[in-house]
Amino acid sequence: MKNIGDYLWVIISAMIVFLMQPGFMALETGLTRAKNSINVAIKNMSDFILSIAAFWFFGFGLMFGKSFHGIFGATDFFVHFQADDWKAAFFIFQAVFVGTAATIDSGAVAERAKFSTYLLMSFITSSFIYPIFGHWAWGNFFYESNHGWLQSLGFLDFAGSTVVHSIGAWVALSGVIIIGPRCGRFTADGKANKIRGHNLVFAYFGVFILFFAWFGFNAGSTLTATTKIAIILTNTMISASFGGITGLFVSWKFSENHLPEPESIINGILGGLVGITAGCYYVNEFGALAIGVLSGFIVYFGTLLLEKVKLDDAVGAIPVHGFCGIWGTVATGIFIKNSFLIEFGVTRMHQIVVQFIGVAAAFFWSFGLSYVLMKIINHYVPMRVSLSHEEIGLNIAEHGASSSLLELSNSVRKIIENRNFKNADKIEVEYGTEIGELSNYFNSMVDDLREKEAAAEEALKSLHHMATTDGLTQILNRKSITETLDKEIARAQRYEHKLSILMFDIDFFKKVNDQFGHQIGDKVLIDISKNVSQTIRKSDYIGRYGGEEFLVIMPETELGNAYILASRIRENIERIKWDFGEDYCITISGGVVENYGEDINRMINRADSLLYYAKDSGRNKIAK
Ligand code: GH3
Ligand code: MG
Ligand code: MG
Repeated sequence: MKNIGDYLWVIISAMIVFLMQPGFMALETGLTRAKNSINVAIKNMSDFILSIAAFWFFGFGLMFGKSFHGIFGATDFFVHFQADDWKAAFFIFQAVFVGTAATIDSGAVAERAKFSTYLLMSFITSSFIYPIFGHWAWGNFFYESNHGWLQSLGFLDFAGSTVVHSIGAWVALSGVIIIGPRCGRFTADGKANKIRGHNLVFAYFGVFILFFAWFGFNAGSTLTATTKIAIILTNTMISASFGGITGLFVSWKFSENHLPEPESIINGILGGLVGITAGCYYVNEFGALAIGVLSGFIVYFGTLLLEKVKLDDAVGAIPVHGFCGIWGTVATGIFIKNSFLIEFGVTRMHQIVVQFIGVAAAFFWSFGLSYVLMKIINHYVPMRVSLSHEEIGLNIAEHGASSSLLELSNSVRKIIENRNFKNADKIEVEYGTEIGELSNYFNSMVDDLREKEAAAEEALKSLHHMATTDGLTQILNRKSITETLDKEIARAQRYEHKLSILMFDIDFFKKVNDQFGHQIGDKVLIDISKNVSQTIRKSDYIGRYGGEEFLVIMPETELGNAYILASRIRENIERIKWDFGEDYCITISGGVVENYGEDINRMINRADSLLYYAKDSGRNKIAK
């Protein structure tokens, strides 16, 4: 019969174990990249609620129902609590345990596992894989007459180094193998790239919570209120601390840059916690110390081993829960107190062998089954997201959820890719946050660059103008008009179109300068340029070829029409009323030619000759 103390202890422990969920969530989101953090959190929450449902449907019955030959429980599906308060208390405690087993997978396959198939695997783990093994090892926890087959052999796993943690880790191992490493985790030539978590402080916060929740996990597993919980907790604290201390110093000594690595410290602590879980009740403080220290080593070198065989476990769940689960379970046989051996009537060697059998059974059952199941699922629905989804991140791809950090990084990436500040999006600023501040700096930097780019564009435009325009008359300069003619000749010849030019020169211009001064001469040049610009058509060009010599290009124009236009130019200039002398008349002489397949030099020479012919034959004339 359970008394009120037992009820209180088990329920309070369950509430404490519940905190493992936010603990894992903080740890896993912190150890992964920002673009996947929301997805990781959603997976943690979803697998928890789903595992409780699955456990209530089938899991509890398979694990703790009346045993069918020590292999599985066969009663208590869709558990009824109304007639049995203890069953309710026991269920709460076991339900938070299954939640822990189910969530281990999420961290290992984070950042590339598809949400839907992940949930399916979570459901299968909680409703079947975990409960069946649980029955083997813990089957008599509710009905004392049950004899799970491992239990009958004398297998000891007090709070679940193997039952909970390794089972979860071996499912994760299947996932890691089948889904494959994250993009960029291993290079083509086999080098491992570290993918840094985006918020290690949050990961550390998660481990503090886990450390605390583990008190409920281990000490609550007494399932009765007893003074032994004190010993269980000292063992738990010692092993966790020495696991962390070992992780710290081992990474300090062996890591590439010889610094105490942030991940190694927390994973060392977690390794120590997983390691002591099986033996927390059976070993003394020196056993706990040995388990913790070895766990710290195992996590560190286990992580390197996984890297070596190119398995990508995003948070190190397999070394922590799998490898340390094995170690802790076997270590229970190694360090078990003599008093227990006498009580059970077995030798230490015998106990160690039984522990090995349990560990092996757990591996073959959960890894074997989950591997086959995932192979089948993966065949029909790929368990990995597409490459593009992996790239944009699962927050957006799987849930349409963004974050300010992600938006900031996307904007920066877009700008760098397009090298375009002009059309760069402004980032929404979340005031009062660090990201908001960063966004603000970024926006003002982009504004600055935008202004500079605009100024540079202006400068470029004016440079171009200066390079192509005649400073005095503001029509095309010699270089530009000849380049234009060159192009027009090529175009006319290629498409067999007509093209004509007029070369003209002001008559007796020296006299204007001599009589009225250079400034008036300049003004005449400007006015004539304007006048001609108004006479010619939009598709024609005028340029200053020399001092008072001009070139007009008339595309799509044959000689006859060019002559008519040239004559109009001449007449219009002749009619200009000059304010420096009412009756003063300035005239031009010019030569018009049509291109007949010749190059630019010959064409200009011909126009020039005709121009001098016009001068010779009396000026104020156009020759063709
Ligand atoms: P013609 O009818 O034979 O062409 O007689 P012209 O006096 O025009 O001939 P010439 O080529 O001897 O003189 C051209 C004059 O144009 C000489 C030069 O002083 C003047 N000139 C050239 N460029 C400029 C300019 O930018 N501004 C001014 N004011 N005069 C210029
Ligand atoms: Mg002249
Ligand atoms: Mg001249």
